[in-house]
Amino acid sequence: MEPTLTELFSDDYAQAQDAADPLRGFRDRFHIPKHDGHDQAYFCGNSLGLQPKTARAHVEEVLSKWAMEAVEGHFTGQAQWMPYHELVRDPLAAVVGAEPSEVVAMNSLTANLHLMMVSFYRPTRERPAILMEAGAFPSDRYALESQVRFHGFDPATDLIELQPDAPDGTFSMQAIARAIAEYGPRLALIVWPGVQYRTGQAFDLAEIARLGHAAGAVVGFDLAHAVGNLPLRLHDSDADFAVWCHYKYMNSGPGAVAGCFVHARHARTDRPRFAGWWGHDQATRFRMGPDFSPTSGADGWQLSNPPILGLAPLRGSLELFAQAGMPALREKSKRLTGYLEALIHERLTGTLQIATPADPEQRGAQLSLRVVQGRGLQGREAGRSLFEFLAREGVLGDWREPDVIRISPVPLYNTHADVMRFVRAVEAWRAP
Ligand SMILES: *Cc1c(COP(=O)(O)O)cnc(C)c1O
Repeated sequence: MEPTLTELFSDDYAQAQDAADPLRGFRDRFHIPKHDGHDQAYFCGNSLGLQPKTARAHVEEVLSKWAMEAVEGHFTGQAQWMPYHELVRDPLAAVVGAEPSEVVAMNSLTANLHLMMVSFYRPTRERPAILMEAGAFPSDRYALESQVRFHGFDPATDLIELQPDAPDGTFSMQAIARAIAEYGPRLALIVWPGVQYRTGQAFDLAEIARLGHAAGAVVGFDLAHAVGNLPLRLHDSDADFAVWCHYKYMNSGPGAVAGCFVHARHARTDRPRFAGWWGHDQATRFRMGPDFSPTSGADGWQLSNPPILGLAPLRGSLELFAQAGMPALREKSKRLTGYLEALIHERLTGTLQIATPADPEQRGAQLSLRVVQGRGLQGREAGRSLFEFLAREGVLGDWREPDVIRISPVPLYNTHADVMRFVRAVEAWRAP
């Protein structure tokens, strides 16, 4: 039975939902930052996910091994460093819906985007262009623009930034399809987000890949805001490549080692690539020969022996994802974000406007909230005032210019009670 509005807004309802939550035990496996001695209501998992309590043990294991075994740590005992990145391969492949040989944890997101473009952006005079979304995360735009220039082409004509056609900076699938049809013959590459960072809109990746391939383009995805947030089926989506980071919904710590996907059909590609010894055929890597012969699969794009300390927390995080499972996390995520949405519609209209699509299939955890007015202030001024008020109340969202507060209830550690706290805090700000 649907709850009545009075029930929906009671603390009892929020607490009952949390008590009945099959994933409720996971919150206790994270460090929740404190505010005035109480747990913060932390809604920034889309920016920096909270620390799993097991992260420390994984890092300490590496430090101890280094202290006690030094160079031999590469080949002896538990969690040897030589094949260390293989420890994360299977659980990471499960999170992104890939075959294990299609994924590798390496470098950082932007570095991986460049490495992928070295192989998968091969512009010609007839097909020089990249299609991306207008308003993309700046690092992606810098990377794409610099690649266009690097190849001697002109970003003014060959970096095509599709303008949003739908409300609040979102895109209809028709607009994406029209752009691919219109620019198709000139497109070398399409780079599209899994979830757009500013609006929180999620996209049909398989459909974008299908349209892109039909137009003769290569298709790559930036999954920074999608991985660990939505169930992904990267292999089936048929993307050529994808990149993402592990410090947002993947909870692996600031600047954590990032992720990369290369579709199995490119496992033994003879496309050009920037090479390093860790991408060399494993069987012969230590013959230290002069000629590069890539190992098959995503591993073949590795450059260096990986930063083991940076990879260690990812192991702890992936254990939690494997235990909870993406389908269960997604179920809870829909409920939690739907609860936030329902409360905003009932109690905060006129104060906040939701910019993220209302269709749950077109969003993940995040709602992007435009601050309309309150306390006699409008727009940006109202937004800054509310944002600072929330932080003083121990309710942490994040701010995006000019007037957006992003709130991401994360199913591994956020609760209905957290959501209720956010709503009450906005009410307290509005009517002091
Ligand atoms: C978070 C994010 C980045 C950050 O890039 P780094 O290389 O990890 O610093 C880049 N692109 C998008 C879309 C992001 O959301």
